[in-house]
Amino acid sequence: MEIVLTQYNPIFDDDLDIYTDKLPFTPNSRYNTPQWCPCRPNKVSFNTNTLFKKHIASLTHKEWLKYLDQPSPKDKEIRSLKKEIIKKDIELVRIMLKFNKLKLYVETDTYNLLQKQVIYK
Ligand SMILES: [Zn+2]
Repeated sequence: MEIVLTQYNPIFDDDLDIYTDKLPFTPNSRYNTPQWCPCRPNKVSFNTNTLFKKHIASLTHKEWLKYLDQPSPKDKEIRSLKKEIIKKDIELVRIMLKFNKLKLYVETDTYNLLQKQVIYK
């Protein structure tokens, strides 16, 4: 059986404008599909967070991370717009929930009013 390695990619922190490392595996998980880091010419691989943490503590990795190419201005704008869309989606869901709650109140009131009219006729 061939073991397929996937490439590890750090994430870009838009707020700090730097790349940061993110744990690639679920905490305390084992037997993960190994990932390799492109910070060195020879592939350094890891399949647990412990091994990953040991790797990112190396000077080579830290230097590589520091000098990685920044995303292009266009990419940054796309990321920023995607974040904005997510914020707007969340806002929309909140408003819809509030609307449905109010609609339910109105419907309940209308129902109660109709009940009273039926009773007092
Ligand atoms: Zn590395």
